[in-house]
Amino acid sequence: MFIVHIASECAPVAKVGGLGDVVFGLCRELEIRGNPVEIILPKYDCMRYDRIWGLQMVHQDLWVPWEGGSIHTSVWFGFVEGRKCFFIDPHSPQNFFNRRAYYGQGDDDRRFAFFCRAALEFLLRSGKNPDVIHCHDWQTALVPVLLYEIYAGLGLRHPRVCFTLHNVKHQGVTGPHILHATGLHRPEHFMHYDRLRDNFNANAVNLMKGGIVYSNFVTTVSPRYAGEIKNTDQGFGLGHTLHVHSGKFGGVLNGVDYDVWNPEVDGHIPRTYGPATLDAKYANKTELRKRLLLREDFRPLVAFIGRLDHQKGVPLIQHALHWCLRNGAQFVLLGSGADAAIQNDFGALKRAINDNPDSHLELGFNEDLSHMIYAGADLLIVPSLFEPCGLTQMIALKYGTVPVVRETGGLADTVFDADHAPRPYHERNGYTFQAFDAAGIESALVRAVGLWNHYPRHFRELMENGMRYDYSWNHPGRDYLNIYDLIRDR
Ligand code: ADP
Repeated sequence: MFIVHIASECAPVAKVGGLGDVVFGLCRELEIRGNPVEIILPKYDCMRYDRIWGLQMVHQDLWVPWEGGSIHTSVWFGFVEGRKCFFIDPHSPQNFFNRRAYYGQGDDDRRFAFFCRAALEFLLRSGKNPDVIHCHDWQTALVPVLLYEIYAGLGLRHPRVCFTLHNVKHQGVTGPHILHATGLHRPEHFMHYDRLRDNFNANAVNLMKGGIVYSNFVTTVSPRYAGEIKNTDQGFGLGHTLHVHSGKFGGVLNGVDYDVWNPEVDGHIPRTYGPATLDAKYANKTELRKRLLLREDFRPLVAFIGRLDHQKGVPLIQHALHWCLRNGAQFVLLGSGADAAIQNDFGALKRAINDNPDSHLELGFNEDLSHMIYAGADLLIVPSLFEPCGLTQMIALKYGTVPVVRETGGLADTVFDADHAPRPYHERNGYTFQAFDAAGIESALVRAVGLWNHYPRHFRELMENGMRYDYSWNHPGRDYLNIYDLIRDR
């Protein structure tokens, strides 16, 4: 089956969070299973060009219809760790992808709507005829709309679309101007409640909703989150739409790329280790402490890695830090984010604890350091308000780092409490809590740090239980192929 992914991120060249990991990992798995896969991305100026091999222009003169005229666009090709990637490079005064940032621009709706139109124009002009187009989140939600409403009539009749919701909080709610810009010229048709009109604001276009309505299949990134966004306020207004389309909607847990995230082969960490050589993990703890200037002492090391965003449970992260320092644990944070207020908060916190030998906050994106933390920490907290899937807890499990998570979304599907989970002990792999408050996270931290201090043998069993889980792309890869097979045009 010939599959084309159209996405705004792909690790390691353009990665902001989990979306980038998922696009890369899933595509790799689909290829391993014998399917030709191509990925279409924007050609951002801030990408990791050092990770693209053989970059060359392959299509010089693509004219992409836009705002009643057209934009001269080039398409580049290169390999990203063996994946075939095409990069869309528009030459227009707006400089859509030369902003030194992936997201957070005032005209993100236009930037990515253009990208959708350009990707389809490229597929049409280059004569590519994939069986399945897989797109991701609101940034590429217009692909199925444009395919069905415009490009099928121009000859792209064969491809079917799978659309994955990675985070329903961000839906691409914008104005009707976007319809005109992309050539969807019948506002009365498209602004209908059954199509792109936002469920609550009658004058707004909701791109994610359009993607759900027009796709042949819609997935989200964990079964628990699928239920939450359909049935609770976690759907941020899209619950009804998902109910209407529930016959083509389901949750598929994301995988982790064990070629990248595996302590047995990880080139970023000082000492590789596995379940049979778990003692070597402690050499990584020592190295991490040296690198971050933490004191070497008999204490558990608790970590947080992730975007510093409201979603990730900012007050609980801060509470955990203070709790750890009061209760004989060390705390390390690696976080980046776009929200200035949250950044400032953590900046102030970093200055306040600067001289503390038991804590380090690293503000910024640092792939290399993230590997060292997964390998060196004893516990990893993920106290999210909501979490569609979450990769950090799954990566932590592979590294024998025990996750402490809030029981929501994909966290609830992957972490099973050492004391309470309705599973046999050898299948329990971490600690969970429910209430989104200080008492909630403390109830889990007390138990986790207590076990580390007083029952090291049991703690080690918990580490080993986690390392045995297979959260690779093996299962989800098969699930996605089944979905593709279900929707393909034969
Ligand atoms: P989200 O997609 O909401 O950002 P996930 O848990 O699904 O969260 O994915 C996060 C991914 O991004 C993981 O691979 C994690 O290691 C990585 N990551 C997050 N923040 C940072 C950072 N500051 N530096 C390095 N890697 C990070």
